[in-house]
Amino acid sequence: MDLNEAIDARRDDLIALTQDLIRMPTLNPPGIGYLEICEFLRNRLTRSGFEVTLVRAEGALGDSDKYPRWNVVARKEGTRKGECVHFNSHTDVVEVGHGWTKDPFGGELEDGKVYGRGACDMKGGLATSIIAAEAFIATYPDFAGAIEISGTADEESGGFGGVAYLAEKGWFDPTRVQHVIIPEPLHKDRVCLGHRGVWWAEIETKGRIAHGSMPFLGDCAVRHMGAVVAEMEDSLFPALAQKRTAMPVIPEGAKQSTLNINSFHGGAAVPEEDYTGLPAPCVPDRASMIIDRRFLMEEAIADVKGEMHDVLERVAARREGFDYSVSDMFEVLPSMTERDAPVVTAVSDAIRDILGKEPDYVVSPGTYDQKHIDRIGRLKNCIAYGPGVLDLAHQPDEWIGVDDMLDSAKVMGQALRVLLDCAGAK
Ligand SMILES: [Zn+2]
Repeated sequence: MDLNEAIDARRDDLIALTQDLIRMPTLNPPGIGYLEICEFLRNRLTRSGFEVTLVRAEGALGDSDKYPRWNVVARKEGTRKGECVHFNSHTDVVEVGHGWTKDPFGGELEDGKVYGRGACDMKGGLATSIIAAEAFIATYPDFAGAIEISGTADEESGGFGGVAYLAEKGWFDPTRVQHVIIPEPLHKDRVCLGHRGVWWAEIETKGRIAHGSMPFLGDCAVRHMGAVVAEMEDSLFPALAQKRTAMPVIPEGAKQSTLNINSFHGGAAVPEEDYTGLPAPCVPDRASMIIDRRFLMEEAIADVKGEMHDVLERVAARREGFDYSVSDMFEVLPSMTERDAPVVTAVSDAIRDILGKEPDYVVSPGTYDQKHIDRIGRLKNCIAYGPGVLDLAHQPDEWIGVDDMLDSAKVMGQALRVLLDCAGAK
C-alpha cells in the first residue's frame, strides 16, 4: 500500500477522530476540558508509538487551578538522524453563539461534512495531521528525523498558555524542531506564510464632572472622544486605505492597513439589569476607546503609533482643555516565512502533485500562533497549512469536509516524505 492508499484506508478513522475531538467542548474563554483532550491525544498517540508529554502552562496568563492550561506534545523518532517536522494545532474553540441548526458538540456527519464548533478551526486540521503522521509512519517506518504533534491551549485568546509557553520553555528551539506546520483552516491548496502586525491600545480622554443641567460647568470627555473619532474619519482612515502591502494578504480588503474601534465607553457605567430608575444627570469625566490596528510589513510599529499620536495632537491643538492618554495593550510585529523556505517548498510541491494545481501563497489578516514560534522560538521555517474554509471559522454550523481532510492529509504525508528523507522510497 502506498502512502495515499494508506491515508484513504483511514477515512473512517479520520471521521471518528474528528467527531471525538468535536465532542469535547473545549470552550475558551474560560478554557475548559484541556486536560481531557490532552489525555485523549496522549492515549491515541501513545498507541501510535509516540513519546507523549503533558505540559501545564503554570503561571501563564489565563492559567489557574480552576482553569488549568494543559498542552500535549508527542514525538516519534525515526530510525536515522534527520530533521524534525512539528504539527501544531490549538485545541480550544470559541463560544457557540446563535443560529445553529446542528448540535455544536455532536460531531454530526452529513453529506461528507462533519459539523460542530471547532470542526474547521481546527479540530479537523488536528485530526488530519494525526492521520497523515500515522499513515506515514506505517508506510515509511525507517524515516529519518522525527515527527512531533502538539495540541495547545488558548490560541483563541492569544496563545500565552499554549504555544507561547512551550516556546519559552524551548519546545520550538530550532535545535530540536526544524519545520512547523500549523493546520489552521486556510484551505487545502493554500500555503499561509505569516500574518500582519497588530497594535492594541486604549485611548482615554479626560473631562470634569458637573451637573447635567449645567454642562458648561463641566467638561464632557465623550465630546472630546467624539472629536477624536471625527479626526480619525477625516485623516486617519483615508490614510490607512492608501497603504497597500506587497504581502499576499487575504481577503483582498486586508491588503491595506486597517483599524477597528473595538469598544467605546463614556460616562456612567451601564446600570444593572434589575435597576429600573433613571440615570443621574452628570457630565462624563472620562471616555475610553480600545483600538485594534493591523499593520503591514512595510510599516514600522513606531510609525503606526506615531500616526495615532498625531491624530490626538491635531485634536489637542484646536480643542480647549483636551487631555488624553494612550496605553499600549498588546503588539505583534508582522511575520512572513520566505517562499523558498524548506517547509514552504515541500508543501507547495505536494499540493502540485496531489491536487494538480499551483498553490496559492497567502498571508493571514490576523495573527495566530506562528507569532510565538517566530518571536520566542526564533524559528522562521513555519507555515499554516490545513483543510477547511476559513470563513466558516467562529460561525454557526461550522463544518469540515471529509474529502478536503483526506486531500490535506496526503499533502502533509508527502511533505513528511520529502522533509524526512524518504524521497527515494515509494
Ligand atoms: Zn484557529
